[in-house]
Amino acid sequence: MNPLPPPIRSGLESLLALLFPEVCQLCGEERGEAASGYLCTPCRSRLPRIAPPMCDRCGLPYPGDITGPFDCLNCRDLDLAFTQARSLLAAKGTGLELVHRYKYHRAFWFEPLFESLFREKAAPGIDPAAWDLIVPVPLHPVKHREREFNQAEHLARLLGRATGIPVDATLLRRAEHTATQTTLTRRARSRNVHGAFTLARSLPADSTRLILVDDVLTTGATTSACARVLRDAGATQIIVWTLARGL
Ligand SMILES: [Zn+2]
Ligand SMILES: [Zn+2]
Repeated sequence: MNPLPPPIRSGLESLLALLFPEVCQLCGEERGEAASGYLCTPCRSRLPRIAPPMCDRCGLPYPGDITGPFDCLNCRDLDLAFTQARSLLAAKGTGLELVHRYKYHRAFWFEPLFESLFREKAAPGIDPAAWDLIVPVPLHPVKHREREFNQAEHLARLLGRATGIPVDATLLRRAEHTATQTTLTRRARSRNVHGAFTLARSLPADSTRLILVDDVLTTGATTSACARVLRDAGATQIIVWTLARGL
């Protein structure tokens, strides 16, 4: 497995890291070490987790007393091409802050935290013998150049380390420059990503059970578009893991 590239920090962040090397990156008060992603124990324990009851398909938490499995309206409406999606954190409060700093400000020092969350939350439910490959959602090459890294690929490698399942970051390709999803409605999102992904090569015959990884899952339209391409290519089982769940 390829090692992750060394952390790249912006000038200000490097300076802060020199001045305050062991300080929690969320509260700025407690001690935070590199091995724990520069988060103190209280801040880690306060991260917004996703707790049941939740939609069995997309992992959307549901306020109420539901005991049996259920699918939310969004899932029934969209006909998602994956079996199940789960996320490490809720994309709100400090969860959203982590995602934002990681994605847009290249806060790579959070990665040990994300890896440990994958070990804690994802790995216990993932039998390495039951899955063949971890596949990140690709960025369009233009966006990749602008942002300089694909956060989904980094996250896929962290999940790979946590589970021992190999990662293939070149299988899926972004076919066209889709508009950013954040300003679009649910249906428009679904239309926007339709046809946005292709396979770089045929799916290996011994790699049909796949785990898709992305940074944030909101409606599931993006990951579902990826899953559909993989299904059409012969994938038999597809689940999704993301860093955060938009609520
Ligand atoms: Zn803290
Ligand atoms: Zn759902």
